[in-house]
Amino acid sequence: MRKIKTIADISCTDKRVFTRVDFNVPLDEKGNVTDGARIIAALPTIQYLTQNNAKVILASHLGRPNGERTMKYSLRNVALVLAKHLGQPVLFLSDCIGEEVHNAVSKMANGSVVLLENLRFYREEIDNDPEFAKKLGSLCDTYVNDAFGSAHRAHASTEGITKFVRENVAGFLMEKELEFLGSKILQPERPFIVILGGAKASDKIKLINNLITKANSMLIGGAMAYTFLAAKGISVGNSPVEESQIPVALEAIKKAQDIGVNLLLPVDHVITSSFAPEQKAIGAISTVQGGIPQQAIGIDIGPETADLFSREIETAKMILWNGPMGIFEIKESSAGTLAIAKAIARPGVTSIVGGGDSGKAIRESGYANKVSFVSTGGGASLEFLEGNPLPGVEALDVA
Ligand code: AMP
Repeated sequence: MRKIKTIADISCTDKRVFTRVDFNVPLDEKGNVTDGARIIAALPTIQYLTQNNAKVILASHLGRPNGERTMKYSLRNVALVLAKHLGQPVLFLSDCIGEEVHNAVSKMANGSVVLLENLRFYREEIDNDPEFAKKLGSLCDTYVNDAFGSAHRAHASTEGITKFVRENVAGFLMEKELEFLGSKILQPERPFIVILGGAKASDKIKLINNLITKANSMLIGGAMAYTFLAAKGISVGNSPVEESQIPVALEAIKKAQDIGVNLLLPVDHVITSSFAPEQKAIGAISTVQGGIPQQAIGIDIGPETADLFSREIETAKMILWNGPMGIFEIKESSAGTLAIAKAIARPGVTSIVGGGDSGKAIRESGYANKVSFVSTGGGASLEFLEGNPLPGVEALDVA
């Protein structure tokens, strides 16, 4: 894998450093930040830059304003939260390009921080418009990408800008993401156990195909497991099955057999009589072993599966987890996902949580600080783990 240059490899003193961060944080109706995890995740990079006398120009998107100046997506309140964490002022600029921004940047002292307004107030950001990218690039001497969660998109601030800046490097968060989801997966400590779950087999099939050649064991739960069980001729009742993915599931099962990967599927299930996804409402629940009776819907792995998976996980030196084992948003079907969160949080093991819903689940379980790494990316993590190059990473300088 290409080793990307980071801020630690360059000199930052006196430089105007355009730093693309991921401040796409949840806000309440009044615009207050309700979860500052993404702001906190960017602090090591920002603090390193200020301590090394850079002029730090932060830029991010927030929500989907579709190219309109929509004040509910303003980053103004994020600047306040960031200033508190940094313990220093953060000058908020009400635009991300233009004369006023240039003037403010030209007056920056070494070690100071400005935050630009939401990049997506301009349609040109997601269109990766070269003129817009050039304007962003003209603000700085050095470009830093610390927004792993946006690196799978070739946008002006993640890819286009690098064509107009001489020095393009990764921040520390980006570096960590590339290490845990990239180099460590390519050369895993063994036994390496991959746990996959989530809604759809079709969403994860590329992931399965890429990881099956690297893992010692693959444990499959969540709704996607029903497609695998159906492929093996096991009854799944009214559980969601993607018929089109059955041949693909069979292929993966055969491949696992051929190359000696231990592929484990659920042996028991939490089931319900009805499930209304919109309301997240379920009917009466019970547990069954083996197949799922007609009319019943699987909503979580059962306790025996949780045990089986946990015992397998105990043998691992390295673990990658992506996707919940059941409808973890509902208490009655969250036990399987919680059991996995607990099982992977073992000292002395490299445990990697692949972001998205599994990231949310590990945080809610209270085990997030007991695992080695929780990715901040959703779509980007998935694409990277599938083995796809990310445009925002490819655009950076090689060390
Ligand atoms: P993904 O984004 O593919 O990782 O899928 C996450 C979603 O899968 C979560 O919202 C879970 O509620 C859902 N999920 C997991 N297991 C099941 C299941 N047995 N039935 C329906 N949805 C499920």
